[in-house]
Amino acid sequence: MPESIDPQRLRLADDERASGVLLGVRCLDCGVTVFGPCAFCQSCTSDRLEPVELEGTGVLYSYTVVRVPPAGWPGPVPYVLGQVELPEGPQVLAEVIDCEHDQLKIGMLVELALQAVASEGGTEEKLVYKWRPAHPDD
Ligand SMILES: [Zn+2]
Repeated sequence: MPESIDPQRLRLADDERASGVLLGVRCLDCGVTVFGPCAFCQSCTSDRLEPVELEGTGVLYSYTVVRVPPAGWPGPVPYVLGQVELPEGPQVLAEVIDCEHDQLKIGMLVELALQAVASEGGTEEKLVYKWRPAHPDD
């Protein structure tokens, strides 16, 4: 069974693990929601934070086409790195897949997609979170 690449940011569904949910925290004092774990609110520095599950759909806020990947990048090049804004407010940076580069549009709806990659130096697979164009009519 593949594991989450980052269990503090992506929790896999218990069943067949083809789905998952992004995790974050919400500040009980100012209401700001952030993606991923943190010890203090990045907005008001309160430590009264509660864990929340984030929406699996968001809006493409910005993107870039990466032609020079980081060392060890396992995927094809060039690839698209998208900054996606979730309804709760946080922005999540991840690769945008299943989309021709000239089809990308700022403001388009994207949804969470999980992709298995081989972990460094091992045969074990890890599931990573990506974005792909959402098709609400499907
Ligand atoms: Zn706060």
